[in-house]
Amino acid sequence: MDLKALIRDIPDFPKPGIIFRDITTLLRDRAGFRYTVETFESKFRDANLIPDYVIGIESRGFLFGPTLAYQFNAGFVPVRKPGKLPAAVHKIEYDLEYGTDQLEIHQDALPKDSKVVIVDDLIATGGTAKATADLLDQIGCELLGFGFVIELKGLEGRKKLPDVPMITLVEY
Ligand code: IMP
Repeated sequence: MDLKALIRDIPDFPKPGIIFRDITTLLRDRAGFRYTVETFESKFRDANLIPDYVIGIESRGFLFGPTLAYQFNAGFVPVRKPGKLPAAVHKIEYDLEYGTDQLEIHQDALPKDSKVVIVDDLIATGGTAKATADLLDQIGCELLGFGFVIELKGLEGRKKLPDVPMITLVEY
C-alpha cells in the first residue's frame, strides 16, 4: 500500500519553510490505518523485537504506541511533556533547535529489566527519541529497538540513537 499517498504534506507548518507530514489523514483511512498497524507489527516480529512494554512519546506516539502494544499483548507506557504525569517521575532535559525541552516518565512505570520498544510517529533529528532512550536508562530496562511510521532520512536522526534496530514504514 502507498502510505505516502495517505500522509498529507502541509507547507509552512508550524513555521515557514517546514513541510509538516500530517498523519491524521492516514489514521482516518480504515485500510491505511489497519495496514500501518499490521505492517508495523510484522516488521517488529521479523526483527525479533518482542516487547513487554511499548513506550510512546507524547503526543503522536500515543496514537501508534498503544495499537502496537495491543498487537503484542504488551503494556503501554507514556513518556510525557513536563508536569503532565501525576506520580513521581524521572526527567530528562534535551536540546531543541532553539532552547531545551524536557520529557518525563513515571518512576514506577516499568519493572527493572523489562524489554521495551520506543514508538513515535516520526523521527527527524532524533533528539526526542534519543532523550527517551536516555530517560529509560535511568530505569534500567532493556531497549530492544525503535519504531517510527515516518523517517526524515536527510536529518540522519538514526545516527543519534543507540545501536539497536529501528523500524520505519515511510521515508522522505
Ligand atoms: P526530532 O526530535 O527532531 O527527531 O523530532 C521528532 C518529533 O517531532 C516527534 O515527536 C514528531 O512527532 C515531531 N515532528 C517533527 N516534524 C514532524 C512532522 O513533520 N510531522 C509530525 N511530527 C513531527
